[in-house]
Amino acid sequence: MDLTNAQMRDIETLIHPYTNLDAFRQTGPVVMERGEGIHVWDTNGKQYIEGLAGLWCTSLGYNEKELIEAATQQLATLPYTHTFAGKSHERAIELAEAVKEISPHPTSKVLFCGSGSEANDQQIKLIWYYNNARGKTEKKKIISRKRAYHGVTVATASLTGLVPNQRDFDLPIDRIHHVNCPFAYREAEPGETDDQFTDRLAKELDQFIEHEGPDTVAAFFAEPIQGAGGVLIPADGYFPKIKKVLDKHDVYFVADEVICGFGRTGNMFGSQTFDMQPDSISVAKALSSAYLPIGAITIGDQMYEAMLEESRKIGTFGHGYTYTAHPVCAAVAIKTLEIYKKRDIVGHVRKLAPVFEGRFAKLADHPLVGNARAKGLIGAVELVADKATKRSFDPAQKVGITCQMNAEAEGLLSRALGGDIVALCPPLIIQEDEVNEMFDRLERALDATEHWVT
Ligand code: PLP
Repeated sequence: MDLTNAQMRDIETLIHPYTNLDAFRQTGPVVMERGEGIHVWDTNGKQYIEGLAGLWCTSLGYNEKELIEAATQQLATLPYTHTFAGKSHERAIELAEAVKEISPHPTSKVLFCGSGSEANDQQIKLIWYYNNARGKTEKKKIISRKRAYHGVTVATASLTGLVPNQRDFDLPIDRIHHVNCPFAYREAEPGETDDQFTDRLAKELDQFIEHEGPDTVAAFFAEPIQGAGGVLIPADGYFPKIKKVLDKHDVYFVADEVICGFGRTGNMFGSQTFDMQPDSISVAKALSSAYLPIGAITIGDQMYEAMLEESRKIGTFGHGYTYTAHPVCAAVAIKTLEIYKKRDIVGHVRKLAPVFEGRFAKLADHPLVGNARAKGLIGAVELVADKATKRSFDPAQKVGITCQMNAEAEGLLSRALGGDIVALCPPLIIQEDEVNEMFDRLERALDATEHWVT
């Protein structure tokens, strides 16, 4: 295949995340050009349904005029100012108020940042800071889960429970541990009910904390639905049982809402869908419909009191980014939250969820699909070599990636995750006929993959 001029320039200049950099030198990139609604077009004029909303993020689609206007207006008025050392601006204040208003737990303050990784990174820093302020200087270990995805900074790639994010990067750092995740299809014992499985996971967590020593365990991080780890949807009872264990041992609970936040699961937050009752949430992505990079974490009264105490002691709160509460990003985020409310985006997701979940349920009958799972407007199929035994394909066959490529040929962007899991997470503005078209394309891609593999 001849590469275009843009593809060749790309190969010679760009490093691409999550790409086999060697194989990429032969294939080159698909170069995208424009977007509208739930669609994007590449430079060959080929149209795709953006079935993963970019990277689980462009919730309002690709040409939301109100967001463009909000950014343009702010750029023209005050393109940059900061919130360091007592300075502020109206957009930062307004956005903090808006996040506080919808936060799923009692929230005192909001601390902004530029991404999901930064959000979780500053969570870890604050948790350590908090326990120093409380005089619990040994209480520093952080528990995450296998297959978790919490980011790629040194600390958050350590929280992430996926091999490629750690291997040969000399990660994880110490003080970070991983426990089992609620992946019933693969991890539940034969015959084990949801209730028994989640009881077992809660018991394992309790034993793990006891074994490490509760005075050394500071926090537990969890995505409501584990996205990049395979779209793992917990059974209803899982989080209430986990929460009980965390409360028993005074362990701070962070819900990573970077994918599930802002309507994705049929409530404003995944914490509400799964009754998590966290002490804090991390958000990013759909906070601005991904039009500009911005993230945030919420801070409860106790954490804030500890931060005040440290400020009295040290003389300052020694943390912040040049782009903390960036005014243009904040203006777009304010408008995004306003649109979610005005257009009842949560109601829209609830209306479409039965169609989306129903089409996923139907895919379970496909000969390649071992498991199909969905909640709200996020879901995945897991492709297996043998449905009865759940035997996986040899990873070298790259069956998931092949399905993703076949979907791309059909005009659908999906995401192949480790373990031949193919995910969909479309823009939340998708309409019913578009949902059906998206699944028709995925079905054709699955048929082509089955034909190829047999
Ligand atoms: N947390 C979750 C649940 C995510 O899915 C992601 C990214 O996909 C992150 C954190 C990291 O966010 P970012 O890529 O903005 O750093």
